[in-house]
Amino acid sequence: KAEKLTDKFQSYVDGGVFTLYKEAEYLGTKLGKIILKIDIETIAEIIKKDIFYILASFLLTLILSYFLTKKVARDFTEPIRNLVSFLESIEFNSFIIDKRITIGEKNEFGKLYSEVNTMLDKIEEASKELSIAAVAFEIENALMITDKDKKVIKVNNAYQDITGYKEEDVVGKMPPFLKRVITKDGFVAKKLDTYNYWSGEIDYYKKDGVGIPIHLTIQEVRDAKDEISHYVISFIDISQQKEAEEKLKYLKQYDPLTGLGNKDLLLETIQNDTGFNKEYSYGAIFLIDINNFKIINDAYGYEIGDKLLKEVSLRLKNEFEDCDFIARTGIGKFALYFNQYIYKKENFLVKAKMLAEHLVLACEKDYDVEDKSIKISVNVGINIFELNSGNIKESYEHAENALYLAKIRDIKYLFFDKNLQVEAQKQATLYTELLNAISNEELTLFYQLQFTDEKVAFGAEALIRWVHPKLGLLSPDKFIPLAEKTGFILQIDNWVLEAGCRQLADWQQNETTKDWSLAINVSAKAFAQNDFAKTVKSAVLKYKIEPSRLKIELVESILIDNLNDAILKIKELQKLGVKISLDDFGTGYSSLQYIKILPINQVKIDQSFVFDITKNSKDLAIIDAVLLLGKAYGFEVIVEGVESKEHFEILKDIGCRYHQGYYLAKPQDIETINQMLKESN
Ligand code: C2E
Ligand code: CA
Ligand code: CA
Repeated sequence: KAEKLTDKFQSYVDGGVFTLYKEAEYLGTKLGKIILKIDIETIAEIIKKDIFYILASFLLTLILSYFLTKKVARDFTEPIRNLVSFLESIEFNSFIIDKRITIGEKNEFGKLYSEVNTMLDKIEEASKELSIAAVAFEIENALMITDKDKKVIKVNNAYQDITGYKEEDVVGKMPPFLKRVITKDGFVAKKLDTYNYWSGEIDYYKKDGVGIPIHLTIQEVRDAKDEISHYVISFIDISQQKEAEEKLKYLKQYDPLTGLGNKDLLLETIQNDTGFNKEYSYGAIFLIDINNFKIINDAYGYEIGDKLLKEVSLRLKNEFEDCDFIARTGIGKFALYFNQYIYKKENFLVKAKMLAEHLVLACEKDYDVEDKSIKISVNVGINIFELNSGNIKESYEHAENALYLAKIRDIKYLFFDKNLQVEAQKQATLYTELLNAISNEELTLFYQLQFTDEKVAFGAEALIRWVHPKLGLLSPDKFIPLAEKTGFILQIDNWVLEAGCRQLADWQQNETTKDWSLAINVSAKAFAQNDFAKTVKSAVLKYKIEPSRLKIELVESILIDNLNDAILKIKELQKLGVKISLDDFGTGYSSLQYIKILPINQVKIDQSFVFDITKNSKDLAIIDAVLLLGKAYGFEVIVEGVESKEHFEILKDIGCRYHQGYYLAKPQDIETINQMLKESN
C-alpha cells in the first residue's frame, strides 16, 4: 500500500517511522506540505510481543498431530503393513495356503482382510486344480496341446521321453505326424469334424528316425463360442504291446520245435490265397503222417524223437523249396501246401502225382540222428481243390480223409477225389509211356501244307502225333502239356527237329518239293537252352538242308519273357540262315509293339482271328493292320485256320498271300502227302 502511495508521495524511512510527504498546492498557490508519518513494527517486535501465544499454539499443534498420527497409524498404516507383510509371507508355489489373516475390527480393513482371505481361498482352489492338471499332464501318455492351427503350445515329459524331441523342438510348429494323419485323404479331418475326436493306430517316427506304432487320440477343445480353440493330442507307444501280440500270435501259430507253422496258420495262409481275381487257381494239400511215431519215441526216447522231427522238417524244407507253405499239424504229422494258377484241375495232377512220389521217397530216406540211423514210413493224403470254392477247412478235411484211407488201405499216397486218383494214375502211366515213345518209335510228324493265294503249296508245318499202342493216334494236346510240365518236351522237340530236317532233306531231292519250307514248333524250354542255336545248326549240317527252308515257330510268350535273350538268339539263328515265325500271333499280350522290336521273318496270325472273319470286321481290320506292318517292317504274314472258301477269298482280297487251314489241307501223314504228290505229277 505504501508503495502505491509513493507514486504520488515521496517517502523515506527513518528509524521506526515511514514518512510520506507531498507539496500541497491550490490553484498554483503553494499551500505547504502534506506529511504522513507511519510507525513500523518489525516481525521480531511482533514475535517478541506474541511469543507466548505462538509457542502455546505450536505446542498444541504438536500434541494434536502426535495423537492424530498415532490414530492414523493405528487405523490405516498398521493394517496395510500387516497386510503387506502377511502377503509377503505367503508362499504361492504350494497350493496349500495354511495362513489366514486375522480380522480385528469390523471396519473397512476388517472387510478388506476378509476379502483377502476369500481371495486366498479361491487361489488355493484354483492352484489345487492347476496342480491336478499339472499332475494329470505328466502321465505316461505323450501329451501335446496345440492351438487351433495345430501348432504346439505345450508337450509333457512323456512326449519328450517317447519321441526324443525336446519341448523347444516342437513348440510353435505343427508336428509332421499330425500333418500326415490329418491330411491323409482327409479321413481324420472329416472324422474330427463330425465327432470332435479321432483315435487310431499310426506309425510314428521318433527323432532318431526309428518308427514305432502308436495309439493316437486327437481331441478338439472348443471355446464358449463353440469354435475350436485348442487340440489335445495324446498317444502311447504300443510297440511292446504289438510285440507281445506278435509273440502270442507266433506261439499260437508256430511249432516251437521245428519253427514250422501249425494247422491254423496253414489254413490262414490258404485262405489268403483265395480271392476273386484268382478264380482259376487251385491249391493242393499234402498231409504226411509218420507211421507209428509213438513207437519211435518209445524206442529212442523223446529227445531223439524231437530231433527226428526236426530232421524231417528240414528235409521237407530242402526238398520242396517251391512249396508255398509247410506246416507241422500234429505230433508226427506234416503238411505241404502248393498253389497253382492254372485253368484245369487235371493240369495239376501230374505235378501232384510227381510231388507225392517225391515226398514219400524223400521222407522215407534214412535219418541220421545222433549216432543212430532211423527209418520211417509215411502215408500221404492229397486234396486238390479250387481255391475259390470257399471252404478251406473242408478242403483240409478231405486231405485228412484221403490220408486216413491211405493208411487203412496201406497205400503210400492217395488223392481225396477218386476220379482224380484215377486220372492221376492215368496221367502217370501216360507219362511213363511217353518216356519210351521215342525209343519205341511211336512219335510221328504230320504235315499240314501251306499255300499261296494261288493255291500253290510252298511248304508245310510239322505237327506231332503219338501213335499210342493202345490209345491210337494222340494229338499233341493230349501229351505236349504233360511233356512240358515234366521237362520231357526237350527230348520231343529235339526229335521233331531231327525228323523235320530229315524230311526237308528228302523234299530237297524232289523236283516239285525242292523249294518247300518246313515250319517246326519249338517249346519255351527248348528255346531257352543256351545251346539251342547250336543244336539247330548241327541238325542243319547233319541233313545238309538249305537252312532258309527251315522255319522255327515260336509263340510270343517265349520271346517276351526274356526279350533281350530272345533277340540275341533269333539273330544267332538267322545268321545260320534259319527263318523265325511268330506263331499264334494276337493271342498273347500282344503284340504290334513286339513285332517292331523282334527281328522275325514271319508272323502267323492266330486262327481265332480267322474264325469270325465273315462277321467280325474288327478281326479283319487287325489282320489288315498286321499286313501293313508286314510291308513296313519286312516280314511275311501267314494266316492259319483258313477253314472255308469264304475265309480264303476274304483273306486273299485284303492281300493275304500265305494260307494254312483245313480248307486247303489238313495235317496228314507223310505217306498221304507223298501219294498226293505222285498223283499231281
Ligand atoms: P499250332 O502250332 O497252333 O498248330 C496249329 C494247330 O491248329 C494244329 O493242331 C492244327 O491241326 C490245327 N489246325 C490247322 N488248320 C486248322 C483249321 O483250319 N481249323 C482248326 N480248327 N484247326 C486247324 P494240332 O496239330 O493239334 O497241334 C496243336 C498244338 O500242339 C500246336 O498248335 C502246337 O502248339 C503244338 N504242337 C504240335 N506239334 C508240335 C511239335 O512238334 N512240337 C511242339 N513243341 N509243339 C507242337
Ligand atoms: Ca505252330
Ligand atoms: Ca498256331
